[in-house]
Amino acid sequence: MVQENHKLILVLNCGSSSLKGALLDSINGELILSCLAEKLTTPEAYITFNYFENPKVQPIGRRSWFVNKAGGDKHRVELSGKTDHTGAVEALLEELKAHDLQGLVAAIGHRVVHGGEKYSGSVMITDDVIATLEECIPLAPLHNPANLTGIHAAQAIFPGLPNVGVFDTAFHQTMPEHAYTYAVPRELYRQYGLRRYGFHGTSYRYVAQAAADLLGKPLKDTALVIAHLGNGASVAAVLGGESKDTSMGLTPLEGLVMGTRSGDLDPGAYGFIEEATGMSAKEVTDMLNKKSGLLGISELSNDMRTIQEAAADGHEGAKLALEITAYRLAKYIASMSVATGRLDAVVFTGGIGENSSLIRAKTIGYLAILGLELDEEANEATRFGKAGIITRADRTPCALVVPTNEERMIAFDTRSLSGLESPAA
Ligand code: ADP
Repeated sequence: MVQENHKLILVLNCGSSSLKGALLDSINGELILSCLAEKLTTPEAYITFNYFENPKVQPIGRRSWFVNKAGGDKHRVELSGKTDHTGAVEALLEELKAHDLQGLVAAIGHRVVHGGEKYSGSVMITDDVIATLEECIPLAPLHNPANLTGIHAAQAIFPGLPNVGVFDTAFHQTMPEHAYTYAVPRELYRQYGLRRYGFHGTSYRYVAQAAADLLGKPLKDTALVIAHLGNGASVAAVLGGESKDTSMGLTPLEGLVMGTRSGDLDPGAYGFIEEATGMSAKEVTDMLNKKSGLLGISELSNDMRTIQEAAADGHEGAKLALEITAYRLAKYIASMSVATGRLDAVVFTGGIGENSSLIRAKTIGYLAILGLELDEEANEATRFGKAGIITRADRTPCALVVPTNEERMIAFDTRSLSGLESPAA
């Protein structure tokens, strides 16, 4: 429900062939509408719109739509003609116009993957910021160009609105030098910026505060290891609300086993694979990003639900994929507690962290050394958007599940930087 006098914040997250959008109430942070455009730049490009509440501003004499609170009205528009990001943003504008929502949009927040060393927080997008993001393209060649396309499209299609950039890397700029420096010739850092940056920062920022609230402690007093487990996955050591270390590095390939990404690998494997197969370095990188991880190990799927179902049916590859995922995750969680020095809680978030009681149980099973003991009932009950403690209540550290909400975090920053009042975080 869009309330009287409430402005809206549009959040855009552009991938190379996709665009995710969300429209949030700037005062209470409620999600009004989400959209997803896929297969962009191909003839099959389309965008789907999903309404979560029934906006007060009803369309009169226009297409009627039924909305329910649980899932909302969902409909799909084919992007014939203009199938790129600009076409998708134009379709979004038409959708907003059709529901008289366009005039309520006060600012646009953009998820930007790589801000290099320049940004330790969100910023208003200016020509200088755009120039810096262009400089960061070599650090994120797949992501930053798409993010920039979204920014340009938003500026052209919603002229006059403030645009804000919220960086995945910004939260990790507090990492100490000994955590972000690779043991390679220093010249590579000085000359090319080769260092560890970390990602998923917007999620960590949101989840750290929500976990502190759940623990009933001020954020500045908390020591957390947070595991963001989605298609991409990473772990971060968050002490007093600041990132001290994280498992992703120069690119989002380092660290955990992910849907299609290998995570850590002996750097010597590059030369080995090249010599053994004749693949180029670029092809090896592509394979490690797109054909490895759960998919590579199981030879079945990159999707955790499919892997779990297959493992339950006895599929050997799927069983192995689950075990490696949980084992590597547990090793990383233990190593991140070195960075925090002490530990209040291990926090699970992201599609897998929030829903896979199996991965959580296996991981905690490997972490007895930290004193974690699973509460099986709580673990099964804390899924599908629920937050809570899943280890024995009388123990510290505990393990928590906290649903992430990156869109809300982006809307929060966008609203404050645009000079509007902050929504309830
Ligand atoms: P993204 O990184 O693209 O935002 P998500 O955070 O949505 O991804 O996480 C996607 C992953 O979450 C997929 O591997 C999916 O299988 C997994 N997932 C979603 N629901 C469940 C579930 N009920 N049980 C196990 N895994 C799940």
